[in-house]
Amino acid sequence: MSQPTRLAILGSTGSIGTQALDVVAANPGQFSVELLAANGNADLLIKQALQFKPNAVVIADEKKYAAVKEVLLPHDIKVWAGEEAISQAVELENIDMVLAAIVGYAGLRSTLAAIRAGKQVALANKETLVVAGDLVTQLAREKAVNIYPVDSEHSAIFQCLAGEFHNPVEKIYLTASGGPFRGKKRADLAQVTKQQALKHPNWEMGAKITIDSATLMNKGLEVIEAKWLFHLRPEQIDIIVHPQSIIHSIVQFSDGSMKAQMGLPDMRLPIQYALGYPKRMPSKFERFDFLEYPALTFEQADTETFRCLPLAFEALKKGGNAACALNAANEIAVAAFLQEKTGFLRIAEIIENAMAKTTFIAKPSYDDYVATDAEARQIAQGLIS
Ligand code: NDP
Repeated sequence: MSQPTRLAILGSTGSIGTQALDVVAANPGQFSVELLAANGNADLLIKQALQFKPNAVVIADEKKYAAVKEVLLPHDIKVWAGEEAISQAVELENIDMVLAAIVGYAGLRSTLAAIRAGKQVALANKETLVVAGDLVTQLAREKAVNIYPVDSEHSAIFQCLAGEFHNPVEKIYLTASGGPFRGKKRADLAQVTKQQALKHPNWEMGAKITIDSATLMNKGLEVIEAKWLFHLRPEQIDIIVHPQSIIHSIVQFSDGSMKAQMGLPDMRLPIQYALGYPKRMPSKFERFDFLEYPALTFEQADTETFRCLPLAFEALKKGGNAACALNAANEIAVAAFLQEKTGFLRIAEIIENAMAKTTFIAKPSYDDYVATDAEARQIAQGLIS
């Protein structure tokens, strides 16, 4: 039997992180957990550490350090605190693969650190590629690091490309469920509440990505993510709304043939595929039954109502630091919506405004991205009514 893959799970207390640990628990002997990292959920982090016995844990929130250390140190588990410590810990020698599942821009530094240290990366944190896709993919090439997509759509594309790496892709279709407000118009959306926006029809996810799904910004971020993962031009990426979320995405090749990957919506499957690649490990996930889905349907995305999607395409076409500004403004606007400080339709307006006002840099360095993120956040914050 081959050696278990030694994992670092960054964002272990989140939706992706906890499902990744379910995958680890369901596949004994395939993986060992070496490092767990989270932000502030000390109780869950401690519980996970006692179950999976990692070498070390990192809690980003330094106020929680003492509490975590007190419980874990007697179990011979090292405890560190602070965001900087996450980027240092991923370099540990006994780690083969890093699952990047921290949410938002906060995940960028540790993902870059993992790549710089030559670790394989299973990437859930799409914002990393949205913010600095050029730097991330260039560094991965230099370090011969593979980035395995965890996002279900990108995992679908990756699975469709297996055995096809030398065949030209004509285009890809990223499928979108349409979110909880599919079919609604702007007038219907003026007063929607965060509780309504947090009710995704098909997926259970963290709060930020659930709001992104309701605004369709999530699909916009995925378009940019796809460009970097699969080296595509903007005109090769299309969106098709597919409310059942059974087809997870489609590749169309230069002969017109299309390959789609399908299955019930369950994030454990793409997580498991990324962690186990190239092996398909057996699973007990519920199987698809055709008769329960007599119709799989498709619609055009409503870009008049859901303005975030065209804004993401605009940022992608503009290049430079535009997508970094888009992402920062989105994080601020979504956080404000979740705190009930702004309305649903204002999210796109804030992003559009912040993008227009943020200093454009055509060829940004890492420091430029950091400065752009800070500038766009400040502008967006100023626009919150
Ligand atoms: P959650 O909000 O559920 O979890 C986020 C995780 O990141 C938590 O463990 C949180 O810790 C941790 N975290 C947040 N900020 C920091 C920080 N500054 N430093 C260290 N850790 C931090 O998010 P999801 O799991 O839903 O999403 C994670 C990523 O995966 C996102 O980029 C999302 O877009 C992507 N993704 C998610 C999917 C899903 O189904 N959920 C599907 C496809 C992609 P704590 O709990 O302690 O606050």
